[in-house]
Amino acid sequence: MRKKIVAGNWKMNKTMEEALILTSEVVHMVKDEVASDVIVVLGVPSIYLTTVQKYVEPVANMGVAAQNCHQKASGAYTGEISAPMLQSIGVDYVYIGHSERRQYFSETNEELAEKVNIALANGLAPIFCCGESLEQRQAGGFLEFVASQLTDSLFHLSEEDFRKVAIAYEPIWAIGTGLTASSEQAQEMHAYLRGHLASKYGQSVANDTSILYGGSCNEKNAQELFACPDVDGGLIGGASLKSREFTNIAKSF
Ligand code: PEP
Repeated sequence: MRKKIVAGNWKMNKTMEEALILTSEVVHMVKDEVASDVIVVLGVPSIYLTTVQKYVEPVANMGVAAQNCHQKASGAYTGEISAPMLQSIGVDYVYIGHSERRQYFSETNEELAEKVNIALANGLAPIFCCGESLEQRQAGGFLEFVASQLTDSLFHLSEEDFRKVAIAYEPIWAIGTGLTASSEQAQEMHAYLRGHLASKYGQSVANDTSILYGGSCNEKNAQELFACPDVDGGLIGGASLKSREFTNIAKSF
């Protein structure tokens, strides 16, 4: 059975002091209020991973995520962070292919395939992001375009490895814009992607794959989005910076 996941993405926000306050508030609220079958992930800047990991470790349904990792295991890549490093500090998840990384750091589908490989080889669970731009949506063919992102970066995986991956569908036009995909638009894409996964890995694997929605998801729209049969949770940017709102989203199933 697929997991329900609500994953925060703090991006490049919060000082250490603010990070500690936010983490401890979320940890307390999740322990007291969120159903134990909902996995709550904190995607924090790398500099805070070790500290945040210590807070979330005792909570069975919480985990910590890096927002990126390099595709090589080690070497002369100044400023980068590797999957073995993340594994060595006990990180659970890594976001791969976020549209901001694709856009501002020119990450290609081929590079993302390598990142997925190295993450899996080091015991990290990839949350693989995909999504179309507004121009692509308006031009049509956007369902096929997003499916091709999965084909290009994931479909080389064995079934055993693919089962460790979660997908986050994040229409670029909805990220940080306040524009949310309607529940119909989200469901249409999620069902299409699940069908695409089934065509490669079979229906049972597709049914077991968590497909999260991301893009201006908040405490007001989460319930309707998460009620869609193929939406298994959310990747939450702006709203993950506020403990009350983020927890309310995790309570929206
Ligand atoms: C994101 O960064 O993945 C995201 C979904 O951001 P926001 O919720 O702010 O749109």
